[in-house]
Amino acid sequence: MKLKEHDMPASKCPHCGTRFDRASSLDDEAPGPGDVTVCIRCAKICIFNEDLTVRKPTGPELFRFTTDPRVMELQMFIADTAGRVEAKQNE
Ligand SMILES: [Zn+2]
Repeated sequence: MKLKEHDMPASKCPHCGTRFDRASSLDDEAPGPGDVTVCIRCAKICIFNEDLTVRKPTGPELFRFTTDPRVMELQMFIADTAGRVEAKQNE
């Protein structure tokens, strides 16, 4: 999986509170309002606001994105990476 990084306004995950100011995208486009992102820590789905901070998805958004294969792949990638980082920290 090849990701492109973008500088973003400071924001925090509405699910776990992880702060971030960068986002990775699957194409060269920087994320915009209404786009989906996945928290790098908890792998839950977030949606970009107009000011590019993030919020929890609405019910219909959650349904739409949890069935999107690209989002599912990203969630698995993050869960796998987080698992490896945690395992390394516990060594
Ligand atoms: Zn999170």
